Amino acid sequence: MSADIIDGKAFALALRGRIADQVTAFAAAAGRPPGLAVVLVGDDPASAVYVRSKGKAVKEAGMEGFEHRLPATVSQDDLLALVDALNADVNVDGILVQLPLPSHIDERAVTTRIDPDKDVDGFHPVNAGRLATGLEGFVPCTPLGCVMLLRDRLGDLTGLDAVVIGRSNIVGKPMAQLLIRESCTVTVAHSRTKDLSSIVCRADIVVAAVGRPEMIRGEWIKPGATVIDVGINRTEDGLVGDVDFAGAASVAGAITPVPGGVGPMTIAVLLRNTLLSAHRRAQIPYDRDAL
Ligand code: NAD
Repeated sequence: MSADIIDGKAFALALRGRIADQVTAFAAAAGRPPGLAVVLVGDDPASAVYVRSKGKAVKEAGMEGFEHRLPATVSQDDLLALVDALNADVNVDGILVQLPLPSHIDERAVTTRIDPDKDVDGFHPVNAGRLATGLEGFVPCTPLGCVMLLRDRLGDLTGLDAVVIGRSNIVGKPMAQLLIRESCTVTVAHSRTKDLSSIVCRADIVVAAVGRPEMIRGEWIKPGATVIDVGINRTEDGLVGDVDFAGAASVAGAITPVPGGVGPMTIAVLLRNTLLSAHRRAQIPYDRDAL
């Protein structure tokens, strides 16, 4: 193996430490801690795990968590009424509705009901538009975490060739927008892309967000490239990413492992977005460079 391992776990831990310091300062100035409301509908075990770890991280950062658990049978109107109440609650700076929702509920109706200025997940179309047009808003946590790792590793990303594999609203598209903002030359590949290997092999930066175990082969990677593996796939051999880790690590300059790479960044950035929201809403200045 020649690639450096990008330690997302350590990076996220350090970021969470800096956030906790700013939470203390915010609470002293505002007279209350930043608040994050998390809504979980039904009892999907993976969602329950995510919500539990988010709740724990919120507490560890010194923020206030408001957890709302609703039965899988809840009506869409009742869920929307809860979102309305959270939008109006002055102690709530961020609202997160854990996806996926039960099939009788229209996810889009719920995500668009969240006040864009409390949308710390960055999924509201207003925030997608803000990102696309260069306005201040909320950026989805996972792709922003990826860019933080890339900047930490590579410094200025200007002019680098980047390939994003995946075009979801949650990862692929905002990832591409962020890399454009960093002045990369960006190619977005997806399920209909022809000859993926010939696109990947030109890239200085490869971001894989597909959801297919080890689909991106090591022999496709340009020597020295930086590889960010967003994929989380549960297989018989345990958790694996979208990238053939052993193959890619033998040629890449640096690579994120799964687990311990991108995953820990998502929650850290969620805390960051909540802290930012609290400062904006309370009109208290914050130390942006520390975040
Ligand atoms: P998604 O299913 O919404 O999107 C997958 C994308 O991959 C699609 O845009 C599709 O066009 C593309 N794709 C599918 N097959 C392809 C192929 N053969 N070749 C090229 N592209 C193909 O998934 P998502 O929500 O964007 O998540 C992607 C992966 O990232 C999943 O493994 C998910 O678990 C993981 N994920 C991780 C985190 C984290 O915190 N680390 C957060 C979100 C998602």
